[in-house]
Amino acid sequence: MLYAWVDGEKRAPLAKGERTTCRDCGGLLSAVMPVENVPHWRHKAGDCDPWSEPEGPWHLGWKERFDLSRREIGLVDGATGERHRADVLYGAGTPKVTVLELQHSSISEDERTSRETFYRQEHRMFWLVHIHSDDSFLGHNFGISMDFGKRPVELDGKTFSVMRWMGRSVQFIEKWKRANAHVFFDFGGHILYLASETVAQRLGGPFQRESSRCASSRAMNSSVPSTGPTDRGWGHGRHSTVVGTSAV
Ligand SMILES: [Zn+2]
Repeated sequence: MLYAWVDGEKRAPLAKGERTTCRDCGGLLSAVMPVENVPHWRHKAGDCDPWSEPEGPWHLGWKERFDLSRREIGLVDGATGERHRADVLYGAGTPKVTVLELQHSSISEDERTSRETFYRQEHRMFWLVHIHSDDSFLGHNFGISMDFGKRPVELDGKTFSVMRWMGRSVQFIEKWKRANAHVFFDFGGHILYLASETVAQRLGGPFQRESSRCASSRAMNSSVPSTGPTDRGWGHGRHSTVVGTSAV
């Protein structure tokens, strides 16, 4: 976790040796100040959120787009006592309260489903998946699959394109197509929206995995996608918004 409460202030650790307690579980936290990574807090007795993963500059950069009060929000299932920490929780107290989960590393389908089940009980949920090639060719495969010139389809004022997934394995894209929450990809300075099953059907899908076809389109310099949680979090600067990437 990147933030903890210290003397009434929620903040990142400032120096090695700092200690405080976790507001979610009461456990002892100590400051970790890596030379080549972002400072963070570590639970001495294990993180109270079993889904917690190592976080680097990508996580920090996205969290910092949101007000501090909306970052890393502990949530508890009242019935089971299960406890998890949303990366960002936006719009609390409104009908559009939304959990944004930032995903840099690969995640199993079981865990993806578990997180969706937990967070979607009382919130809308958005995934933001970082496309990179730190440990695979995913970024390369994703890049060559992006083709906005073919089969543009207008839907609700947004342009979608059907694309062909060029990766050797279709596991990655098929897994995210089965998501029950909205899926956005952060790739090369663009934010791409993966068409949900409902949207894909309205676009003429479902797109069979055997066909190796997909469609997509993009809106350059669009401000905020209607499904975006906040104008602070989406559609800034060089980020273009691609709505509706459906791949096979
Ligand atoms: Zn804790």
